[in-house]
Amino acid sequence: MAEAGEDSVDLGFAEKCEDDFRMLGISYPSKLGGKPAWLRWDSLLTESQARCNNCDTILHFLCQIYVPTDIEEKHYHRTLYVFCCSNGKCYSSKKQCVKVFRSLQEESEDDLTEDDLDKKAEEELRKMFESKQALWTLCEVCSLNGNKKCSLCHDTYYCSKEHQAFDWKFNKHKKNCKDRGTIAIISTKNKFLFDEYEIVIEEEPKKKENSKNNNIGGIDESRLKELMSDGKQDLDKELEKEFNKATANTRDEYFEKFKKRINREPDQIIRYDLGGIPLWVSSEKIPFDKDIPKCSCGSKRQYEFQILPQMLNYLGIETTVDSIDWGTLCIYTCINNCNESAYHEEFVWKQDFSFINI
Ligand SMILES: [Zn+2]
Ligand SMILES: [Zn+2]
Ligand SMILES: [Zn+2]
Ligand SMILES: [Zn+2]
Repeated sequence: MAEAGEDSVDLGFAEKCEDDFRMLGISYPSKLGGKPAWLRWDSLLTESQARCNNCDTILHFLCQIYVPTDIEEKHYHRTLYVFCCSNGKCYSSKKQCVKVFRSLQEESEDDLTEDDLDKKAEEELRKMFESKQALWTLCEVCSLNGNKKCSLCHDTYYCSKEHQAFDWKFNKHKKNCKDRGTIAIISTKNKFLFDEYEIVIEEEPKKKENSKNNNIGGIDESRLKELMSDGKQDLDKELEKEFNKATANTRDEYFEKFKKRINREPDQIIRYDLGGIPLWVSSEKIPFDKDIPKCSCGSKRQYEFQILPQMLNYLGIETTVDSIDWGTLCIYTCINNCNESAYHEEFVWKQDFSFINI
């Protein structure tokens, strides 16, 4: 089984962003929580695309990362969006409760640059963003495509009946509905959304000195042969013991490596290494090539980045036995960067900590 190499990768960290309007999508943010900042406005992600395959509820926006790319010598904006279910029970199901979508858009001369963002007044930028957004009606709760509206104020849109009910009950729509017209167009906080942070990317620091190189524990072949040849009656038991010992060692080894590597920057929430190998948290459930489905365009998918369990600490959710959980979420994307749909579903492989590590 292949392991992550020693080369440095790019790390993502969560940084507090107080009401930063740029996080809404006027630039090309990488962010955690809040509402998704859409890259493509010609077609939006719909609630039917963003439902849990296990419990069928609408997934919560987890994070997005912006990774521009070149295709056939043209520059493209490219953002990956990750959504996850808030129902902790779904995380022990084999069905997908975390989904990722890839969006691609060719760069144009009208795109705002960092320079524009610095120079233009905030008010002007907000207006630009609102005019972009006004082309679409976004769900007040989750920002997915909203094609249902409140029948009282005709001013607030929802992706689904569920979210309309949610907004009425848990957010403030019951109160705001009457004061229509005064509702801010953009609200980035509500009880459905995770806490919002900017994700900043930095290169992983180099390996610290004096860490010894450990080999992955495996079954000692000569020991096995010895056992096989002396024809003991309890051979099966002995073998089983050896196997258990070997797998336990391997588990520890992967986990130890994980801990050691993460220790270089304990607050990292994302590791980005396109075409590389994830840093596994356990020897269990490491996928083989055949486990990674091909893209719908027919191309292979390659590993692109992984989400670490540290991200869970930033979501603003309580952790209980039944809360959402993962060891790591590994994202695999089409190597051809096909552009079949505005929000193209890619593949997530979830790996859990093995019980022995807990
Ligand atoms: Zn679910
Ligand atoms: Zn919604
Ligand atoms: Zn209303
Ligand atoms: Zn593809």
